[in-house]
Amino acid sequence: MAQASPQNPVPALRLPSGEKVPILGQGTWYMGEGHRPRKEEVAALQLGIDLGMTLIDTAEMYGSGAAEEVVGEAIAGQREKVFLVDKVLPSHASRRGTIQACERSLKRLRTDRIDLYLLHWEGPYPLEDTIEAFEELVRSGKIRYWGVSNFDTADMEELVSVKGGSKVTTNQVLYNLTRRGIEWDLLPWHRKRSIPIMAYSPIEQGRMLRNPTLQRIAALHGVTPAQVALNWLLRQGDIMVIPKASRAEHVRDNRAAVDVQLTAEDLAQLDQAFPAPTRKRPLEVL
Ligand code: NAP
Repeated sequence: MAQASPQNPVPALRLPSGEKVPILGQGTWYMGEGHRPRKEEVAALQLGIDLGMTLIDTAEMYGSGAAEEVVGEAIAGQREKVFLVDKVLPSHASRRGTIQACERSLKRLRTDRIDLYLLHWEGPYPLEDTIEAFEELVRSGKIRYWGVSNFDTADMEELVSVKGGSKVTTNQVLYNLTRRGIEWDLLPWHRKRSIPIMAYSPIEQGRMLRNPTLQRIAALHGVTPAQVALNWLLRQGDIMVIPKASRAEHVRDNRAAVDVQLTAEDLAQLDQAFPAPTRKRPLEVL
């Protein structure tokens, strides 16, 4: 298996600001909720950081703050190595509520700044208000950039038409081999504007791993199905990919996905097993 020691560094992409971030990071949904020992979750995130997966995604929603606390423990003493992504709940995303939610998250994360703060999905408050709050957080140094999550193409159009909306740094959406709908219009929309997508649930929370095509290609290369699925995203080069792993073997497996070399034949077989969209589909969410 392509696991032991990674051959290639984790590639980076440039945010609209010009800053570089790794395209392979780590998710944290369901951490801090007792599914695995907390120590193991902290150690998994720390191993990922050591291996160069220094972009960490979390949210105030995950375990009602428990995942942020796990992240806080994992990054203690090494904050400067990490690019921290966090999300505000739509129900908190008013002008004042966003700032208060951010301050609570900073306490749980035990840090003074979030690198990229996202609106988790569009909610009851006008986007203008959330953007104003984000901009105030930028001015006070509590966040460095802001973005959105689960925004479809029409939502992005609306966002960039709002005052300040063009400062959006990313849109975090469901994207993996089994969920290719965004290739129809949302991904091209982002590419045209050089606003990178962040792909969540990149291995469909494990559900895709028994797919026979994925298994056959993985066996051909002596790698795992998860590595094939991740490499299919990573090879695009302009998408941030955030698999969640609380087990060390999964972290190593995911890191080594960078080294997989898919052939044109593999890609054609993947296209056949997981067809690209042929019409607009509403953005799927988990
Ligand atoms: P995922 O990353 O596709 O899958 C995670 C699951 O796969 C876990 O059960 C994990 O097990 C397992 N796994 C990880 N690496 C593996 C490997 N190499 N081989 C076999 N199994 C492996 O799903 P996700 O957690 O939903 O998505 C990733 C992150 O995206 C989340 O954690 C979260 O940060 C973010 N997200 C955001 C949204 C949003 O609305 N913005 C929605 C969903 C997710 P172990 O944990 O046991 O290692």
